[in-house]
Amino acid sequence: MKNLFHTNTKIIGLLGHPIKHSFSPFIHNLACQILELDYVYLPLDVMSSSLKNALKGIVALNIKGFNVTIPHKEKMLSYVHQSSEEATICGAVNTVVNDMGKLYGYNTDVYGILETLLPYKDEIINNEVTLFGAGGAARSVIYTLARHFRPSRINIVNRTEQRAETLKEYFNEKMKYDNFMAYELFPHGLLEVLRGSKLIINATSVGMYPEIDDTIISLSNAFQKDQIVFDLVYNPPKSQLLKIAESEGAVTLNGIKMLVYQGAKSFELWTGQEMPVDKVMTGLENYISI
Ligand code: NAP
Repeated sequence: MKNLFHTNTKIIGLLGHPIKHSFSPFIHNLACQILELDYVYLPLDVMSSSLKNALKGIVALNIKGFNVTIPHKEKMLSYVHQSSEEATICGAVNTVVNDMGKLYGYNTDVYGILETLLPYKDEIINNEVTLFGAGGAARSVIYTLARHFRPSRINIVNRTEQRAETLKEYFNEKMKYDNFMAYELFPHGLLEVLRGSKLIINATSVGMYPEIDDTIISLSNAFQKDQIVFDLVYNPPKSQLLKIAESEGAVTLNGIKMLVYQGAKSFELWTGQEMPVDKVMTGLENYISI
């Protein structure tokens, strides 16, 4: 990678803690390199106790924008001057634009999920979806489904059932969409729920590197030929869950497209340029498989 920064090189970055396993620096610096943009994307490893000071520093240093990750996504909502509808309803900001000291918050995960699922829109509308997880990513999934796909029902399954219940009530009120069911992990009868679902989504961290042999669904014959199984996990690209789903005939989608497209939207907000997503996706796939 060409590494020639100038006195007017613009700084963007990733704010979170820990961030050492993130692929975002790779994605954005590759895109800048391909487009020959004079930007550099830096890791900004900041703990919760330093968040407020870090934001003052970002403004003082005229850092143009940044991604936000664990554990600051929810907190960031209260620090931005304005937030998009997606960020406000999802309750999480993953992208901030610094416009001369005014911070604008966005949630581009929604865009990544939308791009991943759009090719299957006709199959999702008016059919059932089962979602595993009730954390930040699950919120973005629910928002996207309720806003853009209107499935006949969204079954939210979570280890801590109360969190699934909370999401059900929250989105019911916020989005005027009341076709939710909340379940704990694997109660009696969940197999039937899975078999009745056109789309199954894993938005838990189960199966993510380094725990690559774990899977959130270990029931046999849970999947079918006409089902779509979307695992938000992107490392490994083919999770244990996707391996099983594929062996049972389902169409499988990993989290790489979501990751690149959420990055593409952030990139556009900062630079005004379209990310060369195909080249970045190929580069990322090669990078992850090394
Ligand atoms: P989070 O807010 O920490 O939520 C984690 C979720 O996973 C919770 O629902 C949690 O259940 C569940 N969980 C964790 N360990 C579990 C276990 N051992 N058994 C069962 N459930 C378990 O995390 P997040 O930000 O939503 O991220 C979730 C996943 O999505 C991660 O793998 C992340 O990398 C991925 N992600 C991908 C993209 C992408 O672009 N592809 C973007 C964002 C996130 P409890 O509520 O019971 O704790």
